[in-house]
Amino acid sequence: MRSAVRVWAYLAVLAMISLAACTLPAADTPGPMAGNTLAAPTIDQPHPPSEESALLWGEITPTTSADDPLMPPQYYLDVALDYTAKTLTVLQTISYTNNTGHPITNLPLVLPPSSTEGVFSLGALQIDRGFPGTQVNIDHAQIELHLDPALEPGRHVEINLDYALNLPQGSGALGYTDRQVLLADWFPIIPPYQEDAGWVIHPPGQVGEHRVYQLSHFHLNLCLEPAQEGLIIAASAPLSNQQGNCYRYSARDRRNFTLGISPYYQVSSASSALVTVHAYTFPEHTSLGLRAAELAVTAWASFSDLYGDNQRDFLSIVEADIFDGLETDGLVFLSEWYYQTADPTPQNYFELLVVHETAHQWFYALVHNDQAQEPWLDEALATYSELLFYERHHPELVGWWWDFRVMTHQPEGAVNATIYEHSQYRPYINAVYLLGAQFMQAWRDELGEAAFFEGMQRHAQSGAGKVRSAEDFKAAFFATPDVDLSHILAEFFR
Ligand SMILES: [Zn+2]
Repeated sequence: MRSAVRVWAYLAVLAMISLAACTLPAADTPGPMAGNTLAAPTIDQPHPPSEESALLWGEITPTTSADDPLMPPQYYLDVALDYTAKTLTVLQTISYTNNTGHPITNLPLVLPPSSTEGVFSLGALQIDRGFPGTQVNIDHAQIELHLDPALEPGRHVEINLDYALNLPQGSGALGYTDRQVLLADWFPIIPPYQEDAGWVIHPPGQVGEHRVYQLSHFHLNLCLEPAQEGLIIAASAPLSNQQGNCYRYSARDRRNFTLGISPYYQVSSASSALVTVHAYTFPEHTSLGLRAAELAVTAWASFSDLYGDNQRDFLSIVEADIFDGLETDGLVFLSEWYYQTADPTPQNYFELLVVHETAHQWFYALVHNDQAQEPWLDEALATYSELLFYERHHPELVGWWWDFRVMTHQPEGAVNATIYEHSQYRPYINAVYLLGAQFMQAWRDELGEAAFFEGMQRHAQSGAGKVRSAEDFKAAFFATPDVDLSHILAEFFR
């Protein structure tokens, strides 16, 4: 099936190969791409163009017959993974509908994998034939499409990309070790657009996460080439179809799509009426897999009760050779250190982090924030969610939680620090996560139980696909009359 689609794809890019050959880096040319500007070749046949494509993407409804002004970006990713070589070749189509309310003349494509030198190699790019005058500017971390004509509100544009990833070795969330491949932030995306700030694009900091995502639909066809027996694939969504060595996934209204792949993963699963959780562990930690899955299912029920419905119903928890934990939509990585240090009690970071990462499916995934400028909005709330879980399930350990998780680190700083205000991990955690938890407790004490939890639920359900700010958070609570919270903000915020 993949070969048929690749035939389509290469037919589609043929028109621009000769141009690309002299202006774009070849697929085997690593390194930064500085300031190339060129006319964008056009797609003669917009996606989905053929019977083959319809077969490939199965249940996906074509969107090109008519513009839907509310349609989120759609990403079609046709991927060949050589697990042994640790390389991917990717054919990607982005179908983007302009719902900014303004004509778009500059459309940015952020290139997350290019943040590590030598990983991302662009082979070809083309844009649909409705924009024949479009110019393309390619920089190290970004592609800018200068659309001509402009993309009017409610109209859509299609972009094809052909590129390769040469994965780096190491402990990053995009890369490999001798026992796994991790694919987080691995493909080009269109960033969110905000009325007051324009396109939301931030540089990396020395701590924290800097990427901001808009709700999108993802359609992935992942083929192992060459075929390899015994690889276990963890993904942000359940497997929808497998044919031979090709695995298909689709996820609607999600922030991103992440994978973890290893021949060693052991899979444990738990589910409820609300969620299915798969936990992927290395063999030495198999006994902790079911515990992680069941704990996440329990936490999911608690947070559904506390914060309201989450249309997500799936989570992968993936043990990984990384430094800490990393939340993405539908999949979280947890450092093997948390598994190594687990004991049979609830009094350890393994339990805390499973609960914490589950809470991120509300504060990060359901209601999104700018993780670079206002990281406290997901991290303080996910950390405080740990306490709320312990209040419900281990009330005798509330004092332990404050001592172990917060007080022992003597947190200080400003809760609302950006990631750029810290150069070291511990002070950043102390200020944003831990002082953030103390802020949430003070906020709750001042408001009272009913108003606090009503506000939390109002905030959690306020996302509507948008990036929410501190002002939005406060507004969810200031609906409560006659409570002065200014002294708390003055104490914890800069
Ligand atoms: Zn977190």
